Amino acid sequence: MTMLNGDLLIGGQARRGRGGSFYGIEAATGQNLPVEFAGATVDDVKEASALAWKAFETYRETGLEERAHFLERIATEIEAIGDELIERAMAETGLPRGRLEGERGRTAGQLRLFAKEVREGKFQELRFDPANPERKPAPKPDLKLRNLGVGPVVVFGASNFPLAFSVAGGDTASALAAGCPVIVKAHSAHPGTSELVGRAVQKAVAESGLPVGTFAMLFDTGFEVGQALVADPRVQAVGFTGSRRGGLALMKTASERKQPIPVYAEMSSINPVLLFPNALAQRGEAIGKAFAGSLVLGAGQFCTNPGLIIALECSGLESFKSAAVAALKEAPAQTMLTGGIFKAYCSAVQKLESHSAVKQLVRGPDGADFQGAAALFETDAKSFLAHTELQEEVFGAAGLIVRCMSEAELSDVLDHIEGQLTIALHIDEADVPAAKALVPKLELLAGRLLINGFGTGVEVSPAMVHGGPFPATSDGRSTSVGTLAIYRFLRPVCYQDFPEALLPAPFKKA
Ligand code: NAP
Repeated sequence: MTMLNGDLLIGGQARRGRGGSFYGIEAATGQNLPVEFAGATVDDVKEASALAWKAFETYRETGLEERAHFLERIATEIEAIGDELIERAMAETGLPRGRLEGERGRTAGQLRLFAKEVREGKFQELRFDPANPERKPAPKPDLKLRNLGVGPVVVFGASNFPLAFSVAGGDTASALAAGCPVIVKAHSAHPGTSELVGRAVQKAVAESGLPVGTFAMLFDTGFEVGQALVADPRVQAVGFTGSRRGGLALMKTASERKQPIPVYAEMSSINPVLLFPNALAQRGEAIGKAFAGSLVLGAGQFCTNPGLIIALECSGLESFKSAAVAALKEAPAQTMLTGGIFKAYCSAVQKLESHSAVKQLVRGPDGADFQGAAALFETDAKSFLAHTELQEEVFGAAGLIVRCMSEAELSDVLDHIEGQLTIALHIDEADVPAAKALVPKLELLAGRLLINGFGTGVEVSPAMVHGGPFPATSDGRSTSVGTLAIYRFLRPVCYQDFPEALLPAPFKKA
């Protein structure tokens, strides 16, 4: 059994916070779970940041093998927690065992993938541009370049991925891989899961002989600690997944610092699915069924949840609709991550139900308290364009179909939607010319375009982009999933005319 004490993890130690206390909540019942947690104070933030800054001195220069081994140790320590981790995460999030076991595998897998990336060392971008003293009219200096970690990174754990995007998730793995110490602001929706994983990371830091400030984890009972972390002058970048409101608030704090810093915030996306007439005519029913399956996955609490269907009016659309309606009518309501998220979902669905320009096609069977029922709505393109509130993300298993009377109308809808994580196209051979005409527009709108599939299920791979223009993320030039994520936390430095004795180690080995 791992220790679960409700402690903060700072400076290689677990200790009681001096802030307010709170409990982990059982998602299915709203009841307190065992262990009282204590929040951090601004003094704890200062201490963790000072230790992280000190650790940065040595951690950023760790050898590639040592750093890779550290990431692998974290993965092993997380796996070693065993079933206690899965059970606590199930209780805190309401997510089922299979999903959480899969997520644990993904978490360990992405740590090991980053270990491989570190060993390969390509992210350092070592460049050697030799001097040319004979060059006219001026001699050319010797230039060398490498990427260096930016400094301590603050990571806000995501509510919807309590393992893969939380304490030791993608943001933490990529920041540590880049050579940056990490301070995690644990998500209040799964504090026990966070402490268990945090202790595993702390153990890996100690076993690897790394400085104690390489990792810290703090709880917060309000927004004070999170805000203070982003404002701390020693913190150099932020990774965040959550609401648009939360992301914007942290971006504001970061931009108002004496030294503004980047906030990589993944916020809001409705992941449009475009249905083309020939695909609908051939397999409207199958697409409708598959769409329903993707919509209800994880109670719809995926950032890549397909919340918006855009389709040309055609007979195949009716088969799509009736298959989706039939599947959603039977889809059991599912426990949502928190009481707050459940309430927000119910209120958003209620707004759609009473919207004058929207028709409800189906609502799944009601469940117990805190269980969200699936819902599907439809509207026409003109109404969708006239009512911008219909573009807002509904976090949960609710979808909206937008019927378009012509290709011009469909194109107009695309011109008015915000930046997205994903856009899916369902096409047949005969739809290729129409789809091809849209691709240049779509690639400006989303981080990932996919054919005949749905965005849920994000492969962790070197070619993955989980990002996109605002408001999908705060910075569409980056990804938070896949090995490319390491570049968010690196900064190029050029060494001009450096003698061998002064050159950093990576240049000497090369
Ligand atoms: P959230 O409310 O934005 O919270 C995310 C994290 O940021 C939490 O740790 C929260 O602290 C902290 N936080 C929020 N506002 C803050 C502020 N003003 N200052 C400092 N810290 C702040 O998001 P959530 O709780 O995960 O989910 C709520 C909504 O987020 C959902 O309904 C959904 O709309 C959206 N969401 C989107 C995605 C996506 O990928 N697109 C994923 C998850 C959630 P506490 O822990 O104290 O609350």
